Amino acid sequence: MRAAFLEEVEKMGMRDIPVPEIGPDDVLVRIKAAGVCGSDLHAYIGKHIFRFPPVMLGHEGAGVIAKIGENVTGFQIGDRVTVDPTIPCGKCRCCREGNTNLCPDRVAPGTKAWWGGMGTWGDYFPIRADHVYHIGDDVSFAKAALCEPMANSMHIISQIQGKEKNSICVIGCGTIGLFAVLLAKHAGYKTVIGSDPVAFNRETAEKVGADLTVDPIHQNIEKIILDATNGEGVDVTIVAAGAPGILDQAIHLTKRTGEIMLIAMMSEPIAFDSWALLSRQQSLRGSMLYNTPDFEACLKLINEGIDLSPFMTHSMPVEEAGRALELLKNRNENVVKVTLTLD
Ligand SMILES: [Zn+2]
Ligand SMILES: [Zn+2]
Repeated sequence: MRAAFLEEVEKMGMRDIPVPEIGPDDVLVRIKAAGVCGSDLHAYIGKHIFRFPPVMLGHEGAGVIAKIGENVTGFQIGDRVTVDPTIPCGKCRCCREGNTNLCPDRVAPGTKAWWGGMGTWGDYFPIRADHVYHIGDDVSFAKAALCEPMANSMHIISQIQGKEKNSICVIGCGTIGLFAVLLAKHAGYKTVIGSDPVAFNRETAEKVGADLTVDPIHQNIEKIILDATNGEGVDVTIVAAGAPGILDQAIHLTKRTGEIMLIAMMSEPIAFDSWALLSRQQSLRGSMLYNTPDFEACLKLINEGIDLSPFMTHSMPVEEAGRALELLKNRNENVVKVTLTLD
């Protein structure tokens, strides 16, 4: 089978590898579409915390069932599916409390524990059957493969504690920020504001549900947001972009007792004005990956026909994985999400 490997930092190559064997509780998925994620890019540039070359990349994907383990029920060969590609231990305190996203023993693709390092950027992907979900007949594989990144943004929204839904600001309208805009609007926030210095990202934010967008470099974001919220600030600010001073900005945009949700993975520590936070009695909360309910909620929206077309900007064959990663690295084209196809 074909498999796209990161051979060295910033060097992709295709390998011909054996089709993996599955156990009694597993299925084998013939991958048809696989997403390129920020974490694949991290691995590509040598910054991932646990995926190092040589490694098969990819964890987002959709396709059809090709083989079924003997204990598995509810699937037939040819069923159209997408995958939730991490397996928690199910036993630790985090798992017992429903926070499987925080399980220290989670097993992920591209690591030894996942069939010796399998990923979704190849013809066949082995996975435990209880992490595989049916998709509707009219849902494209490329769209179904968006369920995993979308679930990350669903998790942020699900972590918000406050009940008021007057206004929310999303700082950084990359893939995760854009999904947060879409899902915040869907969750009922009256005014959804997207902030991004790139015009294309702001335009996309408006397409997916932003009522207002701001260019934080050339406009006075604090004034615009205070004007839009009767001088109060937004109920919630989601920080989906990393930059020095970004938390201070979020604090100043958010109302007293409001919430700041942190999803941006910043590789350097940043300082922030703690007095500004505590004197507003705001809370600051991190959000990491997603749990099963987040994934299932996104799958339901996808199967019900939510429009994700603004996210699907690029598609190319798996053999061009290197070009896909370069595109995301350099951002010299208007790109949200790149899908690799495996026909
Ligand atoms: Zn992902
Ligand atoms: Zn666990």
